[in-house]
Amino acid sequence: MKRRPLLAGNWKMHTTVIEACHLAAEIGKCSADLDDRDVLLAPPFTVISEVAHVLRESRVLIASQNVCWEEQGAFTGEISPTMVKSAGGTAAIIGHSERRQIFHEDNGMINKRVHGALHFGLLPILCIGETLEEREAGKTFSVLEEQVREGLGGVSSDDMRKTVVAYEPVWAIGTGKTASKEQAQEAHAFVRKLLAEMYEKDIAESVRILYGGSVNPDNVDELMAQADIDGALVGGAALKAESFCRIINFT
Ligand code: PEP
Repeated sequence: MKRRPLLAGNWKMHTTVIEACHLAAEIGKCSADLDDRDVLLAPPFTVISEVAHVLRESRVLIASQNVCWEEQGAFTGEISPTMVKSAGGTAAIIGHSERRQIFHEDNGMINKRVHGALHFGLLPILCIGETLEEREAGKTFSVLEEQVREGLGGVSSDDMRKTVVAYEPVWAIGTGKTASKEQAQEAHAFVRKLLAEMYEKDIAESVRILYGGSVNPDNVDELMAQADIDGALVGGAALKAESFCRIINFT
């Protein structure tokens, strides 16, 4: 099955309003002719609306970097799915390793966030990935399985069709160390097989699985050439228009 590539830039806790508008404008320009793939930006909450405004005539999608399961209420520091939508977002990154590691979000909370996003009509991008310690202990696949099963617990087949999974080995995030194309493909194939056990085969075949972890202009082409890699979630290299434009124009 041919899956539409998705190239996503996660700006993390970077960019002031002015910087975000400039970067978004550059990406709007270099993505203008790309009609065979999706390009998505996840700016900080504070600039979602400005970025959405700058890109209003482009095809670039906007995501939040996290999302709460509630629509409103006493949840200091959180952002609700309706807030994201009202600011111009259509997707949300959920379970990023920085949320898991620094802010101790567990699979249960991540699952609530996935349901919240789906319930209010945002496309969830569920991040999973093992630490170096887990990989070296031979636990990569059991960790991925637990994150997928628990993160997607209770998600219906229909909702699964709208969900994106991002495999991001923690040891490759922001370290300049990329998983080899073989390591990435092996993990992606494992996740797709697992999805086929949890859902129907055609759903597993249609779900986009992104790779994230030091993706850059020099490695994007070989990663994207792998059978089960359907896109990239990019951190550092998404903060410079030149490198992100090269990444989204992968060949
Ligand atoms: C990320 O933030 O999801 C990420 C993969 O970062 P980097 O590309 O910098 O490794």
